[in-house]
Amino acid sequence: MATALTWLGHSAFRVDSPGGKRIYVDPFLHGNPKCPESELEPERCDLIVLTHGHDDHVGDTVAIHERFGCPVVAQVELRGWLASKGIEFNLAHAPNKGGTVKEGMISITLTDANHSSSTEDGAYAGEPAGIVLALLDAVRRFTIYFAGDTNVFGDMSLIGRIYSPDVAVLPIGDHFTMGPREAAVALELLGVARCVPCHYGTFPLLFGTPDELRKLAPPGVEVLAPEPGETLTF
Ligand SMILES: [Zn+2]
Repeated sequence: MATALTWLGHSAFRVDSPGGKRIYVDPFLHGNPKCPESELEPERCDLIVLTHGHDDHVGDTVAIHERFGCPVVAQVELRGWLASKGIEFNLAHAPNKGGTVKEGMISITLTDANHSSSTEDGAYAGEPAGIVLALLDAVRRFTIYFAGDTNVFGDMSLIGRIYSPDVAVLPIGDHFTMGPREAAVALELLGVARCVPCHYGTFPLLFGTPDELRKLAPPGVEVLAPEPGETLTF
């Protein structure tokens, strides 16, 4: 079975695992100008994973949880804040950096990220994180690294060394995160063969482009740039 990765614009992704589970990462759907109309109302959801507390990442989490009752995995302080919004607190879904949560054949590890994190009502939301999402089936492990919102940092080489991601999902929009110049170095540090850029083009300020990244990326790295709503299959 394959893994399907669908970009929903900005940093929102839908992942369909080889085992048939549907995962949303940073599901900013309503209010996301690049989210396709047909993706605004998820038809099902088995798991939500969040990188940090900003509302362009938490997005529709509460509404999706209310509808499907799916687990929500996020850094412990952010997960605590979500409890105040009606998502019953579950310490098993509230890790911190370096920790791994297992949900059946899916494992979620939080990594470092350099950014800020607070909620829409100004609450402390812990620190921002990246996510290593490993999808297992009987024959293989497929690993996607979602960097979250961050600049490049040297310890990305540790993420590459420890988790060997098959794909890196990197922000490239610039202004609030790294742009293509830093993302190219991130790819080198991670040692990945494939990159899916995100957090660009949503608003005029997020001006980095996949073409700029392609010019700067290490030789042999494939920069895949799906349209919002388009699915990549691995
Ligand atoms: Zn953001």
